[in-house]
Amino acid sequence: EETEPIEEARPKTPVKPMTATEVKVNVSIPEAAERAAATGADGVGLLRIEHMILSTNKTPERYIEDHGEEAYVQEIIDGVRNVADEFYPRPVRVRTLDAPTDEFRQLEGGEDEPHEHNPMLGYRGIRRSLDRPELFKHELEAFRQLWEMGYDNVELMLPLVNDVEDVTRAKALMKEVGIDPAKRRWGVMIETPAAALGVEKMAQTGIDFASFGTNDLTQYTLAVDRNNENVAGRFDELHPGVLELISQTIQTCREYDVDTSICGQAGSKPRMVNHLVNEGATSISANIDAVRDVQHEVKRIEQKLILDSVR
Ligand code: PEP
Ligand code: MG
Repeated sequence: EETEPIEEARPKTPVKPMTATEVKVNVSIPEAAERAAATGADGVGLLRIEHMILSTNKTPERYIEDHGEEAYVQEIIDGVRNVADEFYPRPVRVRTLDAPTDEFRQLEGGEDEPHEHNPMLGYRGIRRSLDRPELFKHELEAFRQLWEMGYDNVELMLPLVNDVEDVTRAKALMKEVGIDPAKRRWGVMIETPAAALGVEKMAQTGIDFASFGTNDLTQYTLAVDRNNENVAGRFDELHPGVLELISQTIQTCREYDVDTSICGQAGSKPRMVNHLVNEGATSISANIDAVRDVQHEVKRIEQKLILDSVR
């Protein structure tokens, strides 16, 4: 009779530079969790729920029609668990549904999606979730169950909020499904100028963190469609206008002890890393392939800050 081979010991956290600023990783699909965890990142800065749904090739509505509400909740739970297990106890920030209508339209059931002139300014993110609370509550139910199971490293992140009202409405729905927001870690993405400028009120709702979605924050601040190649040359996450919104947001959040982070593509860029560390952001989330470089970049900048302060 064959015996089971002893599982080889696998270092989960390779040696990495110690930094005050946490360096996390963005996980595109749950299947990439193992590779992401092996980077030694301090957690996951962004895991998008829609990938778990889109991979079934059905819109959420069609999925529920075909398989039922419980299966839908389970689909989300399974996807998040893949990552939360791999990273435990390191935190995993999971974002609620945020796909534009043109993406949903490609899927089974997509023919029911509204036709929009500009999907990027349309029915997506928290707007759609608050407009379809029954559907949104299934996502929240998945969080509730994950937390009950003991996945206290899971964090809930709300996309595309504009103001405190979006946040309080979402918070009320959390309570409706039996989540105690005071006991769980949750927060918002800063993706519109309105959200950046209005973060003080949001900070008073009990959010634990605010994370810059610079892909959207840049497109909305500069009025440059992130998918329009005619203006691609003008898409600049390091534009002074974008950087100023980021600086102001971090400053306000620090007053309220709200963590700040980035989960847009710019988190992998040295100049943005520099800006964030200098402003005092809590963490930075980078793409898998950039984590290592960002860790070292953060270390370098922090050391320079320390030296400058004693000179
Ligand atoms: C962003 O806007 O920077 C972001 C991370 O979200 P997404 O790219 O999914 O819009
Ligand atoms: Mg975004």
